[in-house]
Amino acid sequence: MTGRALTGHGLTGRALTEVAPGVWTATAEIWTSLTTVIVAADGSSLVVDPGISVAELRGLGREVVARGWAVAAGFATHPHWDHVLWDAALGESPRWATPSAVGYAREHRTHNLTESAGATPGLDESLLGLLTPLPDGAAEVPWTGPRAVVVPHEGHCPGHAGLVLPAAGVLLAGDMLSDLEVPLLDLRSADPIGDYRAGLDGLEAAAAEHGARVLVPGHGHVGDAAELARRLRVDRAYLDDLDADRPSPDPRLATDWIAVEHARHVAWRRAR
Ligand SMILES: [Zn+2]
Repeated sequence: MTGRALTGHGLTGRALTEVAPGVWTATAEIWTSLTTVIVAADGSSLVVDPGISVAELRGLGREVVARGWAVAAGFATHPHWDHVLWDAALGESPRWATPSAVGYAREHRTHNLTESAGATPGLDESLLGLLTPLPDGAAEVPWTGPRAVVVPHEGHCPGHAGLVLPAAGVLLAGDMLSDLEVPLLDLRSADPIGDYRAGLDGLEAAAAEHGARVLVPGHGHVGDAAELARRLRVDRAYLDDLDADRPSPDPRLATDWIAVEHARHVAWRRAR
């Protein structure tokens, strides 16, 4: 049976879309969460933020096998629960993350288990947040496939990192640069807005340095270079409005749960 035959049938494999040469994405049912699979010429694969439901995690594992690929490594963009899920169907390869992300995942394991329980019934809890820290100062994900440059920054969550894939011209932005979500700030930081601005600057610089022309956010939709520029602009405008305590005209605030997060930001800003 070919991978193509499995694609989109739901019960077995998971639908994948090739967004750049050798770079495939799948969309989870909740929060328009995007998983990325980077496939080397020999079929070895790097899985970034593998999905949410058990069916999605297992379906991805089956799809990879059906296409003749093999999971060689994972990468978690950050230690929020919806980015550190895993299933035995994806194998036992290391799931890399920044050292501070690994520390955060350990510290918040109970919280992550509670949060995931509702959305991922049947999850093998022993595999949640089982991350391997990148070697100190590692500039790239340690695997034998196409280079995946790590772009660590603060702003959304401790230990967050985007990845740039120079050969394919792709920026994987984790929970940054979404078309559906305004910047979601780490309010426990000493300078949440400053951190977030620095994070956007770092991602923009890395995308420019490595010629990224395709943007894959952790939640939302894939975009081109013009869309990357637009998202940088609207995210910065959101931060400027928040910093100045002005009302934000951002249309992403029409989503109920985003409006709740925005209200938290405003309350924090006014208490500052
Ligand atoms: Zn997050």
